[in-house]
Amino acid sequence: MLKPLAEYEDLARIAHGHLCAGQILGLRMALHGVHLLELDDPAGKDRKRLVTYVEIDRCMTDAIGVVTGCRLGKRALKFRDFGKAAATFCDLDRGRAVRIAARETSKQRAAEMYPEIEDKNQQQMRAYRELPDEELFEVAWVRVAPPAEDLPGYKAPRVVCAECGEGISFRREVERDGRTLCRACAGERYYTPL
Ligand SMILES: [Zn+2]
Ligand SMILES: [Zn+2]
Repeated sequence: MLKPLAEYEDLARIAHGHLCAGQILGLRMALHGVHLLELDDPAGKDRKRLVTYVEIDRCMTDAIGVVTGCRLGKRALKFRDFGKAAATFCDLDRGRAVRIAARETSKQRAAEMYPEIEDKNQQQMRAYRELPDEELFEVAWVRVAPPAEDLPGYKAPRVVCAECGEGISFRREVERDGRTLCRACAGERYYTPL
């Protein structure tokens, strides 16, 4: 059910608007992840069992979504803003997870492989298609235990913030001095009302 890399490249180009080295690295990373988890149809029959945590919001993040089918709106893509070229692929059915990080040396390896290609993006694209997984990635089996409210399909009544009156899903409310508040009203607001 998994497609050849070239087909994923076409899908990634459409989804992301261009193809670049970061996309290829993301495609390779996700393919390696689902392979290690022994899922052969992540975007199809296995779609309900796979959750992916991404640690950066860059080109590779979209590519990971292309292979895994994990999307923010399906609650199957989790963003942890660590600024790292890494992702953790979790098989909910078997309760196991593998974290894959791009090696810091991958750019250097690309330069060694194709010194004659001057354009760095082209150089890395070519190398990232060809380098073996072991040279591109560091792999670690890890435990991830997402709470039920983080998982796709979680259902619970919405509650209403006692301060702003907006509805809150997925148990994201907080208790402050006996009041139920949304995270914004509890002090995590990322915007300033004008
Ligand atoms: Zn890109
Ligand atoms: Zn509120």
